[in-house]
Amino acid sequence: MKKRVLTGLQPTGVITLGNYIGSIKQMIEYQNIYESFIFVADLHAITVNQDSIELRKNIKSLIALYIACGIDPEKNTIYIQSENPYVTAISWMLECNTYYGELSRMTQFKDKSKKNANFTSGLLTYPVLMAADIISMNADYVPVGIDQKQHVELARDIAIRFNKKYKELFIVPEVIIKTTGTKITDLQTPDKKMSKSNENQKGVIRLLDDLNVVRKKIMSATTDSEMKIIYDPVNKPGISNLINIYSSLTNKSIEDIEKEFIDSNYGNFKTKVADVVVDTLSNIQKRYNEILNDDEYLDRILDKGRDKNIEISKKIYDKMIDCIGLGR
Ligand code: ATP
Ligand code: MG
Repeated sequence: MKKRVLTGLQPTGVITLGNYIGSIKQMIEYQNIYESFIFVADLHAITVNQDSIELRKNIKSLIALYIACGIDPEKNTIYIQSENPYVTAISWMLECNTYYGELSRMTQFKDKSKKNANFTSGLLTYPVLMAADIISMNADYVPVGIDQKQHVELARDIAIRFNKKYKELFIVPEVIIKTTGTKITDLQTPDKKMSKSNENQKGVIRLLDDLNVVRKKIMSATTDSEMKIIYDPVNKPGISNLINIYSSLTNKSIEDIEKEFIDSNYGNFKTKVADVVVDTLSNIQKRYNEILNDDEYLDRILDKGRDKNIEISKKIYDKMIDCIGLGR
């Protein structure tokens, strides 16, 4: 039997080049090897405030973007998280087997709760819902960017704990992290992660950005004064980030890129990076606009995805109810 791989993205705005490289691009490779599941994590999005009209729009847009990027609906189960009521029920049962201390130690919680003094408890319990997403689909592998590694590790701990306490119900998921391009940073502040929700969008490339704007953002990326195209994330975070982007979009190794640009200046290198990014995005945008207007096509994919998602997680739900001793 094929191993299962699962990943999700939040509809918290148009996805970024970081999301594409850290998550979607990997799924495009895995769809040929594993049984693949990819979903829109809309329940995760509401851990912070969302405008309801924007949110709906973003959900549909994200589905269309997945497909436009090359996620093949024939090879993937594509679904929307909130359309399956079992996942939140499972999440509650897992929550009661997760410690407050574990959750309050999570880096994402510490970062995001700092941004708003009046944060919700959903922001704290977010990783448990993520564990439920993974566990309820019996996923073997979870490809994520480095920022989500800690959450997958917690999902493992929860699965192991539950298996010991009740019975061997859950597959213990493994995280998959690619070495290059695992964390794309903000072009303006290259010591910070590129995020959909960064307040300043000057250093963030979104997949649906105007292509001239994309070029400008890359050309004005923060670098250093050394004028050497060398990979050194600690001392040269800006240039190293551009190398990561170039490497992951061209599939060239970092060493080959350093050789290719040994006599080059930053302007020249940035132009080359911009060419590759613009080329990638232009193809995605063309397909996106076709798909977004085809509601019937999207509905067919999502109905099928929802049904399969519910069918798998209901089985897990029933077993959990049973071994915990809930209900009749
Ligand atoms: P938000 O700011 O709303 O949290 P985000 O940009 O972090 O948005 P998520 O939806 O939280 O995006 O994450 C989706 C996937 O993209 C995850 O697998 C995550 O690890 C990956 N990812 C997010 N940002 C980056 C990045 N800068 N580089 C590489 N991968 C990333
Ligand atoms: Mg995030």
